[in-house]
Amino acid sequence: MDSRIDSDPELSALLDLSARIGADASLVQGPGGNTSLKRDGVMWVKASGAWLSQARERPIMVPVRLAPLLDALEQADPACETATAFVASALNPQGLRPSIETTMHAALPHRVVLHVHCVETIAWAVQADARAKLAPLLDGLGWLLVPYVRPGLPLTQVMKSAVRTDTRVVVLANHGLVVCGETAAAAEATLRDVVSRLKRAVRPAPQPDAAALAASAAACGYRLPQLESVHAVATDRESLELARRGSLYPDHIVFLGRGVFALGPEEALGDGLQRARAEGRGEPALVLVPGKGALIRAAAPPAAEAIAGCLGDVLQRLRADEPVRVLTAEEEGAIADWDAELYRKALARRPA
Ligand SMILES: [Zn+2]
Repeated sequence: MDSRIDSDPELSALLDLSARIGADASLVQGPGGNTSLKRDGVMWVKASGAWLSQARERPIMVPVRLAPLLDALEQADPACETATAFVASALNPQGLRPSIETTMHAALPHRVVLHVHCVETIAWAVQADARAKLAPLLDGLGWLLVPYVRPGLPLTQVMKSAVRTDTRVVVLANHGLVVCGETAAAAEATLRDVVSRLKRAVRPAPQPDAAALAASAAACGYRLPQLESVHAVATDRESLELARRGSLYPDHIVFLGRGVFALGPEEALGDGLQRARAEGRGEPALVLVPGKGALIRAAAPPAAEAIAGCLGDVLQRLRADEPVRVLTAEEEGAIADWDAELYRKALARRPA
């Protein structure tokens, strides 16, 4: 619980909404996604590394002084990137750090902003012709599509110049969705509307071969995932073909590394892991066993399985003949080497 917020109806409504969308794996996976409320010169925004699903269990919101942050943003001050210099410390006894997407929230004029890694949205947003495909579906919603740029300051700058007064919905190519409103209820209604408009058919996947997967998993430090959709990446041929093309969005790189690692035909897990090390992949958080299913590294943080589940959910909504755009090697590198993400990764390794 958060004693700063309990007696505050507006923030309480945002926390309730945060917990609801955080509990829905089709909207938010692991520490991804964030919410904010602007009021009385302060923007309350989700803390970096915090899980929206825990919004009612522990303090997850950080108060940031809005005017100085917007001034600094105007001057392209690099201090905006982490926004830690703008935290209203007196209201932040836990010393939480603001989300790496704080400036994106600040740049939107609306009181309430929700950012989610919505599976239905991502399945459109990774397509090269997303704008043309989304136009008839989102008609009338005050929407726009922002081409892929690295989250943080680069994305905020693009958003700032793209947003119009009537913008309520922003689709982020190869990333996710932002919806805005004057109240938590209004923003949630828009979110539900967008999700229902963007619903796609889900291709059923063959069952995993649990016995084959389990045979050498534990001995190698791996386990079977609990989420069915993780297996689908490896059991569904079309999903596997798509997964092999590369990384679709930033959180994949942060928690699973670049692209995917799959065992070769008849390759034993131990041999595959040795090859992964030789290829500089270290110990992959996710190992795909084509036709059989997937394994998760036992020591990987809980976020890894959540993100892998998102990958399966997205891929089962995509067809191999669609113009899917994966991140370039340069875009992958910019995420892999980004200091702010190293902090989020470090937090994910800490026990909750
Ligand atoms: Zn995001």
